[in-house]
Amino acid sequence: MASTLDDVPARTALVEVASDFHARGWMAGTAGNLSARADAEHFWITASGKPKGRLDENDFLLVRVRDGQVTEKRRPTNQPSAETSIHAVLYRRFPQARAALHGHSVEAVLAAARAKKGAKSLPLPPIEMIKGFDIWQQNPKVELPLFVNHLDVAKIAKDIEARFKKAQPALTALMVRDHGPTVWGRGLQEAYNRFEILDFLLRFLARGR
Ligand SMILES: [Zn+2]
Repeated sequence: MASTLDDVPARTALVEVASDFHARGWMAGTAGNLSARADAEHFWITASGKPKGRLDENDFLLVRVRDGQVTEKRRPTNQPSAETSIHAVLYRRFPQARAALHGHSVEAVLAAARAKKGAKSLPLPPIEMIKGFDIWQQNPKVELPLFVNHLDVAKIAKDIEARFKKAQPALTALMVRDHGPTVWGRGLQEAYNRFEILDFLLRFLARGR
C-alpha cells in the first residue's frame, strides 16, 4: 500500500477520503465536496448529488481554476456543486494549494456558534494540536476566518475572495457559519491531516466552558 494520499492518483485518493469523511459523519448523505489540482490550470472535484460514501473515480468533473468553468465530465450526467466556486477561489488565491476539502460537521457548527454574531473570526484554542498547521509558538493566538452562510454560494465565494485578497489567513482553513469548514493544503495528505486537526480543535472548542 502507498504511504500517503499523494502517492495515489488524485481521483482514487479523493474517493478514499470521501469514504473516510462519510464514515466520520463529515459528509453525510451527499454533503460536502473534495478537490485536487490536476495541473496548474485545472482541478478535479466531486460531482454534486452523489452519496459520498459510495463514490468512484468517474464521479468527478474537471474545472478551470481561472473562471470555475467545467472543462470535462467523467460521466455526462455529472453536475458541479455550487460550492465549486469556493474551491476555484482557493486555487486562484493560493497557487501552492493542491487540494481542498469541504465537509459538514456538527461540532464545527457548534464551535463557530460560540463566536459573537457578526464576528469575522473564531479564536482557536492554543493547544498542542495547533502545531499541525505549522504554527510553532508558545500560546499562539490563531484565528479561524469565519464567513456568513448564504443560500447563494457564489456570494460566499465572493466574500472569501475579497477577504483573502486583502490579507492572507493565519492558517489554510476557513469556516462558513451554520455550515462547515474548508481546509486546503500543499498536497492532499496535508489537507487531509489539517482537516482532521481543525476538527479536533473545533470539537475541543464546542465542548469548552
Ligand atoms: Zn457545504
